[in-house]
Amino acid sequence: MEEIEGEEFVIVFYPIKSFCNLRCKYCIYLDRGHEYYMPDIEVFHSMIKKVSSCCKKIKILWHGGEFLMAGKNYFDKVVKITKAYKEIGLIINHAGQTNGTMIDKEWINIFKEIDFEIGLSIDFPSDLNNLRVWPNGKTAISEISRGINLVINSGLKYSTTTIVTRKTLGQEHEIAEQLDALFPENNKQIFSPCYIGPANAKYLLVTGSEYADFVKKIISLIPQRVNEGELAKRKNLCLVKNECPKMLFVDFAGKWHLCSRFVKNETPFQTLAEYRSAKIKNYIGEHDCSILDKETRLFWRDFLENY
Ligand code: SF4
Repeated sequence: MEEIEGEEFVIVFYPIKSFCNLRCKYCIYLDRGHEYYMPDIEVFHSMIKKVSSCCKKIKILWHGGEFLMAGKNYFDKVVKITKAYKEIGLIINHAGQTNGTMIDKEWINIFKEIDFEIGLSIDFPSDLNNLRVWPNGKTAISEISRGINLVINSGLKYSTTTIVTRKTLGQEHEIAEQLDALFPENNKQIFSPCYIGPANAKYLLVTGSEYADFVKKIISLIPQRVNEGELAKRKNLCLVKNECPKMLFVDFAGKWHLCSRFVKNETPFQTLAEYRSAKIKNYIGEHDCSILDKETRLFWRDFLENY
């Protein structure tokens, strides 16, 4: 595998497919079902082995569904593997997005062993969390809040991510106030647009221009939270162009994919060089990636040129 000198290599990893314990009303997996795959530690281990031949620093971004459903036993093994590689000079950093409902003291201890950076999903204004429900339709807000409090008090690094639906628009002042009150110490806030969703939640979807308008307003209220890093990321418009070539998307079975929208029958890649050149070709085709479709990328290009 080619050497990537000094670069942190990012792997977006889906150990359990799209399985989740919640059924948020805007979840893109509602129509497709939250499919489960039994997590296999060998898939994780062989992925690390393969990538370790080209770099000295790896970041794993854990994704689901709810990636904590891979279980504590699985993550105990992840901790052991991470520590074993550290002894031979490979740094593996971990971060992952969770709905927070499963977090307890044992999870906090596991996270501390490997300095896991936790991404917490929480919606604002806070009453919009009523869209986040258990399979029986009951709200999950008390379990979400309990998990969030454990993380806040743990001393672990964390960020917060909020979905911007149609119901969020126009409430920027209230959101800014609630963020300052709930997370006085945390400056890393991400606002993620609800562009795609299940068929019965079309009323929640926002357009690229609505989202851009929201971001413009919220940045002026809490510039320290919607930080430059996030804006820079958006400035790249499409992950495929600038971020994506540095990211390797690996599914539950260990197969490499070009983007987070797994394409059926994608050609298997044997080497990183092959993978990267396929990504570049894919971008030239300007496919509609799951992060930003073409129309929205063009909108953002115009918006940011005048920002
Ligand atoms: S927590 Fe995430 S994956 Fe789970 S139902 Fe909600 S949006 Fe979907």
